[in-house]
Amino acid sequence: MKRRAFLQSAAASAAVLSLSPHPAFASVLPSSRRRLFDVEAVTGNGRTVTLSEGALSALRDQLRGRLLLANDDGYGEARNILNPSFDRRPALIVQPTGVADIQTAVNFAQDHGGLLLAVKCGGHSFSGQSTCDRGMMIDLSLFRDVRVDPVARTAWVTGGSLLGAVDHESMAHELVTPLGTVSHTGVGGLVTGGGFGRLARKYGLAIDNLKSVQVVTADGQLRRASADENPDLFWGVRGGGGNFGIVTSFEFQLHPMRRQVIAGEIVFPMSKARDALLLYGEYGPVMPDELSLGFALVQPPGDAPGMVVLDVCFCGEPNDVDQLVAPVRALGTPISDTVRSMDYTVLQRSGDWTDPRAQGLYLKGGFIPSLGGDLAAAIVDGFPAHPSRLTSIFFQVGGGAISRVPSDATAFSQRDIFANMITVSGWPVAHDASTHMQATREYFGSLERFTHGFYVNDLEPDHTAEAIQRNYRQNHARLVAVKDRYDPTNLFRLNANIRPSGEVE
Ligand SMILES: Cc1cc2nc3c(=O)[nH]c(=O)nc-3n(C[C@H](O)[C@H](O)[C@H](O)COP(=O)(O)OP(=O)(O)OC[C@H]3O[C@@H](n4cnc5c(N)ncnc54)[C@H](O)[C@@H]3O)c2cc1C
Repeated sequence: MKRRAFLQSAAASAAVLSLSPHPAFASVLPSSRRRLFDVEAVTGNGRTVTLSEGALSALRDQLRGRLLLANDDGYGEARNILNPSFDRRPALIVQPTGVADIQTAVNFAQDHGGLLLAVKCGGHSFSGQSTCDRGMMIDLSLFRDVRVDPVARTAWVTGGSLLGAVDHESMAHELVTPLGTVSHTGVGGLVTGGGFGRLARKYGLAIDNLKSVQVVTADGQLRRASADENPDLFWGVRGGGGNFGIVTSFEFQLHPMRRQVIAGEIVFPMSKARDALLLYGEYGPVMPDELSLGFALVQPPGDAPGMVVLDVCFCGEPNDVDQLVAPVRALGTPISDTVRSMDYTVLQRSGDWTDPRAQGLYLKGGFIPSLGGDLAAAIVDGFPAHPSRLTSIFFQVGGGAISRVPSDATAFSQRDIFANMITVSGWPVAHDASTHMQATREYFGSLERFTHGFYVNDLEPDHTAEAIQRNYRQNHARLVAVKDRYDPTNLFRLNANIRPSGEVE
């Protein structure tokens, strides 16, 4: 066929297809041109509402990003989060490309009775907060950008970005801000909840390095918040999770740091578990801020032996490291010791999961003020190893700069901790989850008396509204005041929720 004839016939076919409502034709049209249909959805307080074809068309026309409904290409992937246990189907998904789209989506949710609203950044929520059934998901995965000013030592990070991009761009200038340990975790969720990581003892939690944020609040307004501007919102966003709106931009303080750090794993047999825990409990609180020690007991599935893993990261003077790691090495002959000079960005990617959705996952965690003999014994004696699953208990260490921030300076109230202790089980998705979840529940149940609250980013379905409220401790009343001001109808409720004072049961 000649080119002109082909173009004419293609244009004619497209014109015919765009008029046709038949689903067989619809499937070959790009989603931006497909005929829409009325969709049933649910509001945050459980009411069913109909989103008319006209309303959805108007929404789609207003967006530069994408509107995805259940039969659209890309819907299946967009609705997924990391944990495959949460197989939920939002009525509609908006994928914004910028702030204007986020405002449009928030206004649409409000104008339709306060749609049940899930916000997804990296999708790492253990408890499935970033997805929902029959509500609206705002999937920030097309809204990713990191800009660094090396002179001002500042990074501006859009609200959908992943940690790895921030490390990558900052380290290009031998600058860093402290973030978490798995590079595909979202900045949006990790930072608003607190943000533990390998540099937290040196530079504090991720929130302690925020200079300002921009937030789309429940009224669709874009607000800047910093120590001087909307300080109540700035205070609440630093530890109150996604309760107050969608953070569209994070402004981080950067610190000079050599690209090469001293890092790696020292691995011992499980028989060393008790000694290693006791050492960790004694040395963790007094080690220098430049040293971070992650700790895990790990029993892989199958018949492989269990292990004690100490994850070392040292960002101080390289000559000091052998002396500082000596107490760990004195535990005995390790199975392996990979501590060496290493590129920080490589270290930060070393724990990434390549196929995370192949594994069901369940986690329960809590903060511990100390780790002594009684807790060490309970951890080792009750460890629920089983050949059909991964069983682990691990610790994100606190102290250092984290504990030097007053507990009412930000919404993150648990500054006085030794570590965040997390029990976790993982199993192939085809397995029945219930036995694995029950084993984790029972194990954590035997350790819970040693804990004092939990990390909002480790929220899980067993947490009651009362437990969540208690967990904010002395900061709860102030958080309710901030919630009342910026989200009085609780549009942003899929999180460690702070209920506005006007909300009726
Ligand atoms: C493999 C893995 C490793 C982890 N490692 C660490 C670690 O090293 N340190 C640590 O502190 N935590 C860690 N966590 C816990 C992690 O902090 C939480 O799971 C966090 O919620 C993940 O953020 P996300 O954006 O990926 O999650 P999502 O599931 O996308 O979102 C989780 C919550 O954050 C809210 N949210 C997301 N984006 C925004 C935004 N832009 N504005 C406002 N609210 C938003 C959502 O509403 C939702 O409630 C890890 C989790 C996993 C699964």
